[in-house]
Parts: sequence; C-alpha cells; structure tokens
Amino acid sequence: MSVAEELANPPPAKLHVQNVTKVYHGSSQTVTALENINLQVKEGEFVCLLGASGCGKSTLLNLIAGLEKPTEGSIHADGQEVTGPGRQRMVMFQEHALFPWLNVLGNVMFGLKLKPNLTDPERQEVARYYLRLVGLEKFVNANVHELSGGMKQRVALARALAPNPRMLLMDEPFAALDGMTREQLYSDLQNIQQKREKTVVFVTHNVREAVCLGDRVVLFTPRPGRIHAEYRVNLPRERDINDVAVAQLASAITVELKKHTTKQA
Ligand code: ADP
Ligand code: MG
Repeated sequence: MSVAEELANPPPAKLHVQNVTKVYHGSSQTVTALENINLQVKEGEFVCLLGASGCGKSTLLNLIAGLEKPTEGSIHADGQEVTGPGRQRMVMFQEHALFPWLNVLGNVMFGLKLKPNLTDPERQEVARYYLRLVGLEKFVNANVHELSGGMKQRVALARALAPNPRMLLMDEPFAALDGMTREQLYSDLQNIQQKREKTVVFVTHNVREAVCLGDRVVLFTPRPGRIHAEYRVNLPRERDINDVAVAQLASAITVELKKHTTKQA
C-alpha cells in the first residue's frame, strides 16, 4: 500500500446504540451507570454527549470503544456488533497518556505498527502528515516532557488519527487545558474533522464546548444515566465558542440542565 492510499479518507462510520444498559456491581453497591440508551450517529456526524459528572458519559464512550461490554442491549458500528476495541474506533482521553520513553514522532508512529503493509519510512511519512495536521511539524523530535499541555493533547490527537479510523471517540480531551489553548483546539478540531471526514463522539460537561463543536448535543441526566434531550446545532462553521448564537443556545441548554439538577437535589 502506498502512503497516498494510506492517507486517503476512509468512509466515516455510522453508529447504532440500541437499548443499552450498563450496571456495575461494586463491593458495597450496585450502580446503574446507563439505562436504556438509544442513540444513532450518522456517517461523518459530530455528536457531543453532555452532562454533569457521574451521568455515564465515559461509560457509554468506553462501551462504544469496545473497552467494556453492555449489561443489556447492543452497539453496532457500520452494521457490525462491537465486541472489543478496533482500529476503526480510536479513543482520546483527558489525560494525554503518551509514552514518555518515545519522542513525539515515536508516539504517533506507535499506532501504525499495526499496519504491516507499510515500511518504516512510510510509517514515518504518515506520522509526519498527522503531526503537520495538528500543527506540530516543528516538534517531531521533541520529548514528551518538553511539551505544554495543549501540545501533548495535539500529539494524542495525531496518534488517534494516525491509524486512519472511521470514528474518533474523545473523552473530555481539553478539560485540563487553559481557555486560550482550548479555543485554538476547538478551531483546529473542527477543521480537522471536516478535512478527514471523521464521525466523532465527544464527551464533555461544558455546555458551550458542546454547542461550539457538535452537529448535535445529547444531554444526559444521572442516577441512572439516561438521555434527557437532544439539540441539533444548525449554526455555520467554523464556530467560535464566543459567538453570540453559540452562547444563546448554550444558555437555553443550561436552563434545561439546571431544572433537572434542582429536581434531583
Ligand atoms: P461521567 O463520565 O458522566 O462522569 P461515568 O461513566 O464515569 O460518568 O460514571 C457513571 C456512574 O458509573 C458513576 O456513578 C460511576 O461511579 C459509576 N462507575 C463508572 N465506572 C465504574 C466502575 N468501573 N465500577 C463501578 N462503578 C463505576
Ligand atoms: Mg467521565
């Protein structure tokens, strides 16, 4: 396989979550993390899962990733039941989770080891493409500890993109970053998603972030984790988190969110 073929966009994935319930049996209590979740994500759609801490967002993302199994129900990606992790569904977490013993290029090349059709120089070329895409072309040889938090998350994004998955799963990837760094990443992520045509499922507790990034925002409520409402975001891109229209929709969703939190209290 040539590098050009490797870098071509694969068709984005579709996702079907059907009647999914997830129960955790702890030592002292049983927690229903998710109850009867139904969700469809279209090819190339950017969906944000929004909710307060503890409402099962990470649980759902881990189920979609195939890192855990549902107690009831099923998850299909491109018509195939998810039974374990796969190269077509790459995950990015809040903690950068980079390998400190590898430099930037090594971290991005790591995921490409699974590609037996590529030679080592080809893997390097592919990794460099993704490092350019995330704006780190000047840092290919840097060590992980030399990078800022935002740069580490850029490496993690390049690493998740490098195997060319059809779906990207992101769990609060920017939550630990400062506001200015985050705003630049919102812009870059929107552009990368359009260019690479990925289906994205993005978890956040930040309402404005969800509205800024999502084609659709799915609002979760806790105890047990359920889908409470969905909002389609029909605003033109590239969106800025400070856009008035983003702020308006975010404040309407916040009102809904607070109503539910008050009811629970
Ligand atoms: P969120 O990501 O929305 O903050 P989580 O999916 O992490 O929520 O957690 C949902 C609920 O499930 C919480 O009550 C949490 O304590 C519980 N939970 C999550 N993972 C486990 C686990 N491995 N074992 C037991 N309980 C868990
Ligand atoms: Mg979480």
